[in-house]
Amino acid sequence: MSVLEAIKEEIDKAKSIIIVTHENPDGDAIGSTLGFMHGLKKIEKDVDVFVPIINKMYDFMPGYDLIKKEIPEDKEYDLCISLDSSDLERLGEGRAIFEKASNTIVIDHHITNQNFGDINYVNAVASSTCQNIIVVLAAMGIAINKEMAMCIYSGMLTDTGGFRYNVQPETFEFAGMLLETGIDIAKIYKNLFDVTTLARTKLLGRAIERLELLEEGKIACTYISQKDIEEFENEEGDHENIVNYGRNIEGVEVSIFLREADGYFKVSLRSNEYVDVSRIAAKFAGGGHIRAAGFELNMSLEQAKDTVISEIKSQFKKI
Ligand code: 5GP
Ligand code: MN
Repeated sequence: MSVLEAIKEEIDKAKSIIIVTHENPDGDAIGSTLGFMHGLKKIEKDVDVFVPIINKMYDFMPGYDLIKKEIPEDKEYDLCISLDSSDLERLGEGRAIFEKASNTIVIDHHITNQNFGDINYVNAVASSTCQNIIVVLAAMGIAINKEMAMCIYSGMLTDTGGFRYNVQPETFEFAGMLLETGIDIAKIYKNLFDVTTLARTKLLGRAIERLELLEEGKIACTYISQKDIEEFENEEGDHENIVNYGRNIEGVEVSIFLREADGYFKVSLRSNEYVDVSRIAAKFAGGGHIRAAGFELNMSLEQAKDTVISEIKSQFKKI
């Protein structure tokens, strides 16, 4: 039996299903969970989506209001589906739900995925988890309607940086199929890339003020502290995209963005042409893709900065 057939069988069998995704959920995480939720509801499945903290910017996606921010402890699900998460740890609060479920399925596109489910559909070539969801829905015989397409298109759009990265010919074929449902792609684009808030803009300003170039301009580095987040009353996920400002500076190969969280720093890396940042992330028990990866460092700002910079420098030497 193929993996897709096994997924269909498991879902057909399940009476109650919960979908979980990674912490700091991005467009692909939210788009894939909501898109798949709509698909499973269409075949009359009892399905919940659990995302404890989510940025309001995704509220244009149909089903946003159905997302559960907590699950009662005594609630039992016989199937848990993890979407867009490369490992158990990344599930954050969703981890306990995943571990408690009798059966589990993992659908993802991270090359660093640890195949932590009973059934794992990991196609790392695909642009996004949302693209993999289209394949799974097709294998299950579920036709994509407009509300599903809005969510799925959103994840494909954000994870490819506006159809620039990790795009295969079929990415456009899939996007074309979604367009046929009548979705308003200008409106989706605007919600995901243009609309912002004053708090997000202020946070970006703070990070830009601190932006510095190192190693003859090949490394860009900036950070935000917990104090900044409190000062501007930011929401979870308001830092998203800040790392790209460093990467966009001419001559920069690797952009580092450090974000202070509870007692540790979350590191985001982006590269332009030749440094494989997923290898750097893997060294620190993180993960991601060749041009976008992340991990956590349990140290002070200065130590974290030095640690990341010296690892990038050693990658430069190998090239
Ligand atoms: P970001 O920098 O936007 O948080 O993440 C960039 C990419 O790296 C995403 O694909 C994200 O899933 C992955 N990533 C970020 N942080 C971690 C981490 O701590 N662990 C793992 N496994 N992947 C991460
Ligand atoms: Mn993704």
